[in-house]
This record gives sequence, structure tokens and C-alpha cells, in this order.
Amino acid sequence: TQPLVIMVEESMDSAMARWQQDVIGYLYVGFAACALMLLLSIVAWRGLRSREAARRMARQVQVRIAQSERELAVLMRSVQEVIFRTNTAGRITFVNARLALITGGSESQTIGRTLQELVEPSYRSAVENLFARAEAGGVRTCQAMFHLDGGRQLLFDVAMVPLLENGKLMGYAGSAVDITERWVAQQELQNELEFRGLVLEVNPLPISMTDIQGRLMMVNRAWEAYKGRDRAQVIGLRLADFLPAEEVAVHESADRQLLGEGGQTMFETRVLHGGKTWRDTRITKALVYDAGGQATAILCTLMDVSDFRAAERLTRQAQEASDEAARSKSEFVANMSHELRTPLQSIMGFSELGMFRSKADARLTGMFEDIHRSGERMLSLVNDLLDVAKLESTVGTFQLERVDLRGVIYPVLRELDPLLAQRKLRLDVALGDLPLTAKVDPVRFQQVIRNVLANAIKFSPQASSITLLGRMDSRGQIRLAVRDHGPGIPEEELGAIFEAFKQSSTTKDGSGGTGLGLAICKKIVEALGGRIYAENVKQGGSVFHIILPARGFSETIPAELQ
Ligand code: ADP
Repeated sequence: TQPLVIMVEESMDSAMARWQQDVIGYLYVGFAACALMLLLSIVAWRGLRSREAARRMARQVQVRIAQSERELAVLMRSVQEVIFRTNTAGRITFVNARLALITGGSESQTIGRTLQELVEPSYRSAVENLFARAEAGGVRTCQAMFHLDGGRQLLFDVAMVPLLENGKLMGYAGSAVDITERWVAQQELQNELEFRGLVLEVNPLPISMTDIQGRLMMVNRAWEAYKGRDRAQVIGLRLADFLPAEEVAVHESADRQLLGEGGQTMFETRVLHGGKTWRDTRITKALVYDAGGQATAILCTLMDVSDFRAAERLTRQAQEASDEAARSKSEFVANMSHELRTPLQSIMGFSELGMFRSKADARLTGMFEDIHRSGERMLSLVNDLLDVAKLESTVGTFQLERVDLRGVIYPVLRELDPLLAQRKLRLDVALGDLPLTAKVDPVRFQQVIRNVLANAIKFSPQASSITLLGRMDSRGQIRLAVRDHGPGIPEEELGAIFEAFKQSSTTKDGSGGTGLGLAICKKIVEALGGRIYAENVKQGGSVFHIILPARGFSETIPAELQ
């Protein structure tokens, strides 16, 4: 209850000194603790920061990886090549979508299979070589035909690299390009080239090809046979190295012309055959151009025309011989006819005299009449023969005049009047009012009209009518037609009656003619550039048509203005 207070007196300085001593110790400890705490805090703070940064970085890396993966996937999909990876055993562990696109299957169908399993058996060893000596690394390539479901085949160019890590094989990576289309095209081109080669090779014509410098590049089998030289001896040689100078000169001048003018050239020359004989040969040369339009070679085809030329020569000789024979025959007939006419004239004269003198003796008169009639027939035959002979030798010497045919025809009609009257025939003539101008030999043309009309009179039944029509048609030709009411002409003989000595089967007996008249007419009309033919008329009788070019066939016919 009574606290005892003891007061101890101490100097301020010593008390302070003792206090300071105590406090400093604590202060040092405090400071040390604070410094330690500060240090620990800093370490912890920095640890946190770096963890945060690492996490951020990891996130960024992940994003980048995901993005690259996406890009890679797109790239893999869009790349035109098939890209694959295999494990060390060669089994496919990855393949891009391109394969599925080409094959029409799915990537999963190939995963786990080996490349060897996918290719055609004949390509397996090539594919196996891709895996050989993997430790050496490096790219290895081959072509392989892949067999697809459904029998389809695709050819790929395959390239592959072994994946090594520290010298240890991790698998293989590779790519494959589909070259099927290129291969098919190459194959077709190859076939085409082989076919063309074969066509050239088996061509029966000798064919060769020289380059622009004139060196032989190619010859075919026929060329070898024709020239008697093996291709192995001549390919690469110039023509001058093995052909005679005159043949080379022909080739060189043709080649020069060809190179100057382009296109192709054809000529005939004599060519050495089999190194022995010279043959007439037709040579065709053509320039061969490359894709850039540059002439690269000259193709030369030989055609042996010796036999043809020989046949031509023989034909010409035969023709000349036959012309000569025809000329001699005509001359002979002309001479003979001429010689026959003189004695015939006397036979006729004397038979007439006999008829006159033997009037008292009817039997004798009859005999002389027979002689006279036979003489007349013979004279007419001889005259016709002479005409034929003359025509054959003098067709080219017609006296052509431009005349109105009406003026040529009327005198003949007057001549025939007595014959018409004798048979009580009526002749209707319609030649029109316009001139029928034509270029003819009037005397010869009268002979045609006279003969055709005489036939019509001869074969017409008594008291019937004959018509003569004449007009100019729209093409400027003159058309004359003589129509009668006679027996007509069998259809199959319509052409034959214009041949010498041919008579129709209907009138053969008893017409008394020689069968030369129409042959002469045909010759004359054709020599005038015209045409003569016969037709039958349904109602009976026949028509003889004569067609002549209006102003002479050698002149131009004015055309209508359009
Ligand atoms: P030819 O009258 O002297 O026998 P042609 O050459 O003039 O000789 O006639 C040949 C043949 O054509 C005649 O024999 C006759 O058979 C036939 N012929 C000619 N004109 C006529 C005609 N108008 N009607 C029927 N037949 C005809």
C-alpha cells in the first residue's frame, strides 16, 4: 500500500549512453529484418513477374503454333503435289488431301500402308530403291504407276528424303506429282510418231529427207531399194557424196528454188536407179517447217514414171501408125472409088444405049434395065464411099461461110419435089421469118439435109406427111428437125444407124440403101461443131434432130447483159 520509490540518480549523459547502446542493437536487428523482408519481397515479385511473362509467352507461342498449323493444313490442301510421310518401316503415317482428290478415295485408305503395296508390281523395285541406304540421306526419285480401285492407273513422279535426327532414321518424307496426262500425251505422241514412221517406211515410193545443208537425215525402205544403197551408208552424207553430178545439180537447183520461194515443187528428170540404169522419175520436194515456222528440212519423194513414159511413147507410135493406116485406107478407097466410077459410067452408058436399041425385044430391054439399075446402085455406093474417104481426109478443109440456112435448105427441097410427088407425100416446112445464121460449108450442109429428107421420103408410107422445122433456141443454137410417119427406129439402134454400113433391123430388107448416108451426115455435122441424133415419136414415125452452133463454133457467142 505504500510503494517504495527508490530514486537513483544518474547523469543524463551516462543514462543516454546506456539507452543508446540498447536501442542501436535493436535498431540493427530491425533494419536487418526489414532488409531481409525487402529482399524476399523483391525476389518473390520478380519470380511472379517472370512466371507471368513465361505464361504469356507460352500462350503466344501456342497461338502462333495453332496459326502455323492452320496455315500448313491449308497449304497442304492447296499444294498440287501429293505430300506424304512414312515411318521407318515405310508405312505411310501422313498424306495430304491432294491424294484423295486425285484418287477419289480418302487419306485414311492409305494411312498404314506401304508405298510398295500401292504401286503396280512392275514398279515395286523402283519404289524399294527409294528406301535404300537411308543413312546417306539425300533426295531420291523414281516414276511409279499407282493402281487405284476400279482398275484406274495413275503415273506419279515420286521424290523422297529420309528424315535423320543425329544420324538416326526417324522416317521418310516425300512428294509425288501426277504425270498421267503428260504420260498419256507422250504415249499418244509416241504412237503417232511410230505410225508416221511406219507409213513412210512402208510407202512404196522412195522417200528421203535432207537438212537445210543438204545432208541426208532419213530414207525409207523403197529409197534403199531404188537407189541400191543401205541407209547406214548414206545418212549424214551430202547427195554429192554418192550421186552423179548431173543428178545432184538438178536437186541443188530445186532446193535453192524451194528455199527461196517456200511451199513445194514438182519436176521430172532422169535419176540413177540401183546405180546402173537411168530412169524417168517425177520428183516432188516440199519444205518441212518447225513449230516456229523455220524451214528445217526438205522432203523428197521419187516416182518412177519410166514405164508410163514408155507406154506413152508406144501409144503415140501406135496412134501414128493407126493414123497412117487410116490415111492409106482412105486414100485406097478414094482411088478405088474413082477408078470404079469410070468403068461404071460406061456400063451405065452402054446399058442405056442397049435399052434404047433393044426396044423391039422386050426380054433384052429387061436385061439392059437390070444392068442399068445395078449400075446405078453401084454408082451410088461408090459415090458414098468416095464421100466417106473424102470426109476422112478433108474434114479440116471445109469451106465455111456464114449463111442463112434457109437459103441453103430451099434449093434441096426443090430438088426433092419429084420424089415427093412420086410417093404422094406432103412436106410441111416451117423455118420461121428470122434468118437462121450459121457458119457452115453450104454444099456439105445441103448433103446432110438431102440425105435426112431422102430417108424420110424413102421410109414414109405413101400419101403421108413430112415436117421440116427450123428455129434458133434461147442459147443461140440452130435446131432443125425432120419428122416423118414411117416405121421408126428400134430404140436400141437409134445410135447405131449413124455408124457406117449400119441399117435398122426394121428397114434392112429392101430399102436399097448402103448405110453410109447417116454416117456421112454425122461426120459433116460434127465437123461443123454440131450434133445429129434420132428419136422416135410416140404416135409413130421418127424425128431427126440437127443442132448447129449459131455463129460457128469457133466464134464467141455474145452473152446477155445481166
Ligand atoms: P441408107 O439409107 O442408105 O441405108 P443411111 O445411113 O442414110 O443409109 O441410113 C441408115 C439406116 O437408118 C437406114 O437403112 C434405115 O434403116 C435407118 N433410117 C434412116 N432414116 C430413117 C427414117 N426416117 N425412118 C426409119 N429408119 C431410118
